[in-house]
Amino acid sequence: MNKILKKNDTIKLVISLNKIIIDMDDTITVDTYLNVVNNYLKTNYTYQDINKYWIDDIIPPHQLENYLDYFYNQINIYDYAKVHPHAIEVIKELTKYYDVYICSAYVDHRDLKDCVNLITYKYKWLQKNLPFIHPDNYIFTSNKKMLQADIKIDDRLNNLEGQARLKLLITAHHNKNISVQELREKNVIRVNNWNEIANILLKH
Ligand SMILES: [Mg+2]
Repeated sequence: MNKILKKNDTIKLVISLNKIIIDMDDTITVDTYLNVVNNYLKTNYTYQDINKYWIDDIIPPHQLENYLDYFYNQINIYDYAKVHPHAIEVIKELTKYYDVYICSAYVDHRDLKDCVNLITYKYKWLQKNLPFIHPDNYIFTSNKKMLQADIKIDDRLNNLEGQARLKLLITAHHNKNISVQELREKNVIRVNNWNEIANILLKH
């Protein structure tokens, strides 16, 4: 027999349905760009060799046009992606308690014509690896600041700007040196992995 919801139950239900926006690259997937660059250049760079946000800034300028064509047209970059440990199982658990959205940027000012292909690659990867999240909950935009959510999870500090009650920065090669003080000033909490995210969001 279905339980009839009383008014207070409904209020609790609504309150519990918090909206989470989760970034994709370097938050759910890892090493994608590093693996693609290494494959293209036939190198074995590690994150220790790269001190930039954009991994492909190490591509020599005279090869950039060729590299961008490779990146957007010749491969699916997510064939080179690994999953952040425990990300998928934690996100699946989150969907039981939260309204989960995946938000990923795709605009590349160096190649505005071909970067649209990233949407297809991202969409297919998400469908295959996070089948429990409906595509209605995918957001493809490079302007994440305008999105409002209760909780945002991202590896890029800029993307955590804008409205959210809880902002979690997941550690990545390019954000390791952001100070505790700066994070505190921006009301951001650092998390090192998905187990830490689970500890914060799934402790009931
Ligand atoms: Mg990211």
